[in-house]
Amino acid sequence: MTVELRELRRSFGGTVALDGLSLTIEQGELIAFLGPSGCGKTTALRCVAGFERPDTGAVFIDGADVTRVPANRRDAGMVFQSYSLFPNLNVRDNVAFGLRVRRRPTSERHSRAAELLELVGLGGFGERYPHQLSGGQQQRVALARALALQPKVLLLDEPLSALDAKVRVNLREEIRRLQLELGITTIFVTHDQEEALSVADRVAVLKSGRLEQVAPPAEVYDRPATPFVAEFVGTMNHLPGRVSGETVEVFGHFLPLDGAAPGEEVDVLVRPEAVRVSPSEEGRGFILASSFRGSIARLRVQLDSGGEVLADVPGHEAVRLAPGLKVDVTLVERPVLTAPRTAVAAPV
Ligand code: ATP
Repeated sequence: MTVELRELRRSFGGTVALDGLSLTIEQGELIAFLGPSGCGKTTALRCVAGFERPDTGAVFIDGADVTRVPANRRDAGMVFQSYSLFPNLNVRDNVAFGLRVRRRPTSERHSRAAELLELVGLGGFGERYPHQLSGGQQQRVALARALALQPKVLLLDEPLSALDAKVRVNLREEIRRLQLELGITTIFVTHDQEEALSVADRVAVLKSGRLEQVAPPAEVYDRPATPFVAEFVGTMNHLPGRVSGETVEVFGHFLPLDGAAPGEEVDVLVRPEAVRVSPSEEGRGFILASSFRGSIARLRVQLDSGGEVLADVPGHEAVRLAPGLKVDVTLVERPVLTAPRTAVAAPV
């Protein structure tokens, strides 16, 4: 089933939550809504679920205009940040709740609940109560409950935010596996860029109720459409560059750049992993700090010309490239550049 948001606008008093949001989510696609707090992610999701009605604009599910269709008739399953299970019902009855509302026979309810609990890795947990489960397990139950009525669309509102790091990573992989297995069109709201990049087919980056960019994760990362996206997704260095002809010079590299006037000073955006650091007495700066992260170490280099640059080097280099060392700074070969005034250099 496709989901289309068409020119959605929604204000709350003076606050504009959605400011003309248009987007189509394809059949079987998992799209992540990513953006800072207050950018309208949840409001957009609630418009699809039917808990919120846009002031203007429309929502289509599978080609049908559902803007005025109540939530319980939209065929959407939803999982919230807080587990929101019924505490007085056991796991099986939580999962089968929607089936009970629809007056399905007990045998069907039980078999379907058992099937779904198996699917989310909780076979045998049916008799437990929510308070007897960990946060991650409760969220699996919430997921099973959302899938019980075989919805056309799965809506996940920060489903992993309340969980600790390890559980979060495991569960997001599980969600993705399940989503692919069921082929269910899914919207996953998150403010965590790593989560969005790792789980989604496409990432929709929102800012102030508008779409900044929608593209596959690697494209959002390597070719951010706007400075906001570049800044919000991943870490960026802002390096001063001077335009000469069709190129801009950064650390002795001449990078192609369209649309800027010769002599113009531009801000060149460079990912830390596109920066190379090597020991050199005659280098451009020295290592100010190093933070070891296992597979990489992130170095903070003080440039003699003023300013700092962040560089990611392989973790095993952290001992050699220690704070205080004089270094030279260059870029990887053929960094990718986009955007006229604010160039972006990403690794090849
Ligand atoms: P977060 O990540 O913090 O949940 P979000 O991107 O999901 O943020 P929304 O919850 O969609 O953002 O909110 C968008 C804007 O609309 C915010 O400024 C918020 O304060 C406002 N807003 C949302 N719902 C309401 C409401 N029911 N009443 C008043 N203002 C609201």
